[in-house]
Amino acid sequence: MSIANKLARTELVDMIPYQSARRLCSGGNEFHSKVWLNANEAAGNGDYQINSDCINRYPDFQPENLINAYSQYSGLATNEILATRGADEGIELLIRTFCQAYQDNILICPPTYGMYAISAQNHGAGIIKVPLTDNCQLDLEGLRAQVGRVKVVFLCSPGNPTGNLLSQSSIKAALDMFADSAIVVVDEAYIEFCPKHSVATWLKQYPQLVVLRTLSKAFALAGLRCGFTLANSDIITMLSKVIAPYPISAPVAEIASKALSSEGITEVNARVQTTNVLREKLADWLSTQPWCQSVFTSDANFVLFRTHNTNEKNFVFESLAEQDILIRDQSKQMSLEHCLRISIGSEDELDNLKQTLIKANENKPAQTLEKEN
Ligand SMILES: *Cc1c(COP(=O)(O)O)cnc(C)c1O
Repeated sequence: MSIANKLARTELVDMIPYQSARRLCSGGNEFHSKVWLNANEAAGNGDYQINSDCINRYPDFQPENLINAYSQYSGLATNEILATRGADEGIELLIRTFCQAYQDNILICPPTYGMYAISAQNHGAGIIKVPLTDNCQLDLEGLRAQVGRVKVVFLCSPGNPTGNLLSQSSIKAALDMFADSAIVVVDEAYIEFCPKHSVATWLKQYPQLVVLRTLSKAFALAGLRCGFTLANSDIITMLSKVIAPYPISAPVAEIASKALSSEGITEVNARVQTTNVLREKLADWLSTQPWCQSVFTSDANFVLFRTHNTNEKNFVFESLAEQDILIRDQSKQMSLEHCLRISIGSEDELDNLKQTLIKANENKPAQTLEKEN
C-alpha cells in the first residue's frame, strides 16, 4: 500500500474525481485540431494584454477594480460580492462554511451539475438527492420532506446538463420552505443567456439566498478561472473566513475587469444573441433527425437531446468522435438514458457537426437500427 493510500482520509482512496470534459479528453496541443463542443465553452477567444507592474506584490484579497466592475454589472453592493476561482470555488466554500464534516448534508436535484456532489464528498458532507420532475422542474413535495435535514440546497437555473430554467415560483417556494434552516444556492452559470430570469435581485428579500456566477461561459473566459458568489454581506463575510488569502491573482483581476467593462459587456451581449440563434437552429435540426427521440428545452449555450436507444447514442457520439468533434455523453446521469449534450460552438463548427452526422447516417449499416437488447 502506498504511503498516500495508507494515510489519506479513507473515503478519498476510492473516490473518483470530477470527470470534467477536459479530463476526459485532455487537450494538450489539440485545441486547434479538434472541435470542442463538450464543455459549454464559448467558441472564440478575446484578446487581452496584461501589465506586470506590481506582479512582485501580493494582490488585494478581493481586487477593488474587479469587485467594482462586478458591482456595476450586477447592480449589487460591493459587500454582497465575493470573487472566487471560478464558480466551482464558490460551491466548495459554501459547503466548507456551512456543513460540519461527517454531520451535515447538502441537497441536490439530479440530473444536475457534478461539482456539488464532488465538493460535498471531498469535505465529508452527506448528499441528499431530490430528483427533478419529468419536465426538469423542482419536486416541491420532495424538497419539503428534507427541511431540517440539510444545510445547503443547490438549485441550478438554467440547469446543466438539462438546459431549462426552474420556474421562479418554485424557487420562491424553496426559499420559503428552507428560510430558517438552509442556505439556498441558485447556480446561474448560464444566466447571461436569459438575463431576465436572474434571481439576484431577490437577495434583499431572502437572506438565505446565494447566487453563483461565472466568467467561464458567456464571457468566454473558462481558462481564466473567475467566478462570483453573490449574497447578503453576512454570508459574504462568513465565506471570506474560509477562502484562500489571495484567491484572485493580479493578471486574472486585470483581464476579468476588462471583460466586465462596457465594451466587454457589449461583446457578451452579441455573443449571447448569436449563441441563442444557433442553439434554436440546432435544436430544430436535431428534432428532425431519425435517430433523435427528443430535444430538451434550453435557455443556455448547449442542447441536450435523447436518442432512441444506446446504439443510436453511440452512433452519434462515435461518428462525431471519428471526425474529432467532441460532445458530452450524459447518459450515466440520473434519468438521462441515451442522452447527449452539444455545446453551441461557432456556426462553422455546428455546420461541420450536422454534415458529419448527415453523412454518417447515410452510410449507416442497417444493424444499428435494431432495438437495443
Ligand atoms: C460551468 C459551470 C460551473 C463552474 O464554472 P467555473 O466558473 O468555470 O468554475 C458552475 N456551475 C455550473 C452549472 C456550470 O455549468
